[in-house]
Amino acid sequence: MSEQKRVFFGIALPEESSQSVIEWRAATFAEETGRPIAAANLHLTLAFLGEISAEKRRALIQMAGKIKQPPFTLKLDDAGHWPRSGVVWLGPKQAPRGLLQLAGLLRSQAARSGCYQSPLPFHPHVTLFRNAHQPVALPPRNFSWQFRVERFALFESLFSKGRTRYRELASWELQQEIL
Ligand code: ATP
Ligand code: MG
Repeated sequence: MSEQKRVFFGIALPEESSQSVIEWRAATFAEETGRPIAAANLHLTLAFLGEISAEKRRALIQMAGKIKQPPFTLKLDDAGHWPRSGVVWLGPKQAPRGLLQLAGLLRSQAARSGCYQSPLPFHPHVTLFRNAHQPVALPPRNFSWQFRVERFALFESLFSKGRTRYRELASWELQQEIL
């Protein structure tokens, strides 16, 4: 039997942005808001795959390697709270076209390979807190982090000793097309 792993395609936040975001978070939200996500784990999920076989993983890695699209700028200038899932998030007010294109491709490649894909529309977000089921006072929208997205990766999510870690299984550079 092949090994099963919980995996997802995503974009890791650059370290400087992560540090700045967690400092702002500590200064902005009450401690009882929820469980804060560690700086090293801040990411934006492009496509969640769940537990898939090694064979499917190989097929998805090969298809992801064929994606050709230029880098894009991501601006995190919005925040929200989804009380049912207990998530407080940061995201773009307006998702850049490159982000929607990349997520759309990865999600359709996954769906075509028979992987579960959420029936919900893609809401690009970076989770700041989990287990936030009580009402949350959201800050005024006077913040913004902006960075260039030049690569994406396939991550494996590992849970041990009470904490979640993500390990990069493969990654790809976004490149300007050579005409
Ligand atoms: P933990 O569940 O251990 O607290 P986590 O939620 O970050 O940590 P995973 O559950 O493995 O780790 O999820 C990895 C990523 O995929 C996260 O961004 C998560 O929001 C997203 N994700 C998890 N389950 C789903 C799902 N069913 N549909 C869409 N995205 C999902
Ligand atoms: Mg989870």
